[in-house]
Amino acid sequence: MDSAEQKMQFVFRLRSKGVTDDRVLNAMERVDRRQFLRGTFEARAYDDMPLPISCGQTISQPSIVGLMTQALKVGPRDTILEVGTGSGYQAAILSHLARRVYTVDRHRRLAERAETLFTELDLHNITVFTSDGSHGLPSQAPFDRILVTAAAEDPPSPLLAQLREGGIMVIPVGQSDTVQTLIKATKTADGMEYEELCPVRFVPLLEGLGDG
Ligand code: SAH
Repeated sequence: MDSAEQKMQFVFRLRSKGVTDDRVLNAMERVDRRQFLRGTFEARAYDDMPLPISCGQTISQPSIVGLMTQALKVGPRDTILEVGTGSGYQAAILSHLARRVYTVDRHRRLAERAETLFTELDLHNITVFTSDGSHGLPSQAPFDRILVTAAAEDPPSPLLAQLREGGIMVIPVGQSDTVQTLIKATKTADGMEYEELCPVRFVPLLEGLGDG
């Protein structure tokens, strides 16, 4: 199968899993997942499965990336915070949809690798930080949208505080080794509104900096 055909099947599979927003599908078509993988895993880039990256972390399953991005309802003028840069794949997709993307990872190695990739790919509206993202990024707050790509027991309160009124946060919530639920939290004038989206499985949101 050539790569054009693989890409067509990739988009077809995303649609069949419920990713129907054309802006999201276009953004996902523009970002080649292979570029965010290394070695033997490159060959599986278009499979709808999570795959290992360095520091014992994973690049998420494309259909989940699509559903999370869709739930975030990103507008072209939005400023987004992503917690959990990982490979940088999700941030690259967001960069085609939003005005500015801030992404943080607790592993310096992952953050630096992603930053190099964004430069190579001419994605100049992404800024990468190495920090514990559960504290958010107070220097750049507030955010129109926040996407957390690691599972927390509860949505961290600094993140809720750094969300603009009318803003949306999407986050997997639950214990790390049991079933987690993807939650969409919307900040209204009266407080937070929560909606449960689907069961998911993410690596845990950990405190402090990683060792690599
Ligand atoms: N969005 C990524 C996948 C994320 S995997 C992608 O597109 O490839 C989850 C990531 O969250 C890991 O890289 C892990 O290091 C990071 N992480 C876990 N806890 C964190 C924290 N408190 N602050 C920042 N990053 C964290």
